[in-house]
Amino acid sequence: MPLPPGKSEIEVMRHYQYLASRNFGLDTGMYPLGSCTMKYNPRVNEDLCRLEGFTALHPAQPIATAQGALRLMYELAADLAEITGFAATTLAPAAGAHGEYTALMMFRAALEARGDARQTVIIPDTAHGTNPATVALCGYKTITVASNENGTIDLDALREVLDTDVAALMLTNPNTLGLFEPDIGKITAMAHDVGAFAYCDGANLNALMGITRIAEAGFDALHINLHKTFAAPHGGGGPGAGPVCVTSELAPYLPTPVVALREENYVFETPAHTIGRVRSWYGNFSVLVRAYAYLKALGAEGLREVSEQAIISANYVRTQLRDAFDMPYDRPCMHEFVLSGTRQKKESGVRTLDIAKRLLDYGFHPPTVYFPLIVDECMMIEPTETEPLKTLDAFIEAMRAIATEASSNPAMLHAAPQTLPVRRLDETAAARDVVVADLPATNPS
Ligand SMILES: *Cc1c(COP(=O)(O)O)cnc(C)c1O
Repeated sequence: MPLPPGKSEIEVMRHYQYLASRNFGLDTGMYPLGSCTMKYNPRVNEDLCRLEGFTALHPAQPIATAQGALRLMYELAADLAEITGFAATTLAPAAGAHGEYTALMMFRAALEARGDARQTVIIPDTAHGTNPATVALCGYKTITVASNENGTIDLDALREVLDTDVAALMLTNPNTLGLFEPDIGKITAMAHDVGAFAYCDGANLNALMGITRIAEAGFDALHINLHKTFAAPHGGGGPGAGPVCVTSELAPYLPTPVVALREENYVFETPAHTIGRVRSWYGNFSVLVRAYAYLKALGAEGLREVSEQAIISANYVRTQLRDAFDMPYDRPCMHEFVLSGTRQKKESGVRTLDIAKRLLDYGFHPPTVYFPLIVDECMMIEPTETEPLKTLDAFIEAMRAIATEASSNPAMLHAAPQTLPVRRLDETAAARDVVVADLPATNPS
């Protein structure tokens, strides 16, 4: 790396080392962000996606000289289809939201092909914000369907909004409360009965691998976040990848190109009724390499173990925290669960944001907060499969200690974090007015 003018190598090295030491990441401690999953990114994957045979490829070079790269894409697409039970996969979308967009465009093309113009898409109130954003981007109108007291879809409410104007139903499973939809087969059948497509937001696939194949519940398409389930780093907003798996009925609408195997040669093909390109070239290839490496390293048994362990970890932490905080949906969860800070807010004015900031003092990254929107003072916790029991216990102990502090010393929590280099930030100002250049060049102490 070229040095900035007037700086020596040792100054630059210390500058970056100092910045790294002030950061909080997975290398520093547990990172229980919910609905955000991928915390474990094996270092060997970084070496593999930097292999010269991959990095020196030009996307326009003759494919006869890039057979290894095409084979990787072909096998990854097939493996993802196998895990989810679908017929075909596109690897092109660059993120989960982009996968949603790709699927909705395919639905629209398939509907138009049968002369059917529909206007609306149904989404439950627990959905991730990208779902309604995608609907708007595709020119549809969102209809929100309420959850019942169990945190899952209310079938009567769903029945009321399902009609022949509905292009699709988008369902997240497990949903963002970490709950498996018990009526999932009924729900997809109800959508099909009015001629609508059933879409699964598969961002939480890490709870299901090897346990259930989501296509068998009657879905027509699903997206997978490789950066949440298949070991691609998630930091800094990307790059990620949001492959979409579809039924054989929808396969002709997949974006171009897809990789096919013809007489022992891997080739790019354009599906008969393709919606076109959704991404330049072939998607975020280095993310695909990481996912492939992770899949091959774990194998079928290993993937199932990942999901089982993620579920056990989440339920362990959940049961240890249920008396210290309100738990609006107190039943077995999948890979994540939600707590509510309502009791602390009522009793001492301590908010979930205060609790999140105080966790930093205990050496833990905060969980996802204030999402899903239907839970007051929400904390959404996802420990994942990789944290050892000792760390889960330390996290539980920290959360319990904070619950006690909320009663004994609320003022201290309002001013948390107490021990970090920066204290409570104005988060809006920090996001809008980013200052990254004025930091001291080296550790001032
Ligand atoms: C993360 C997430 C998304 C969006 O994925 P991006 O890759 O961030 O675009 C959609 N739905 C759910 C449930 C998610 O957790």
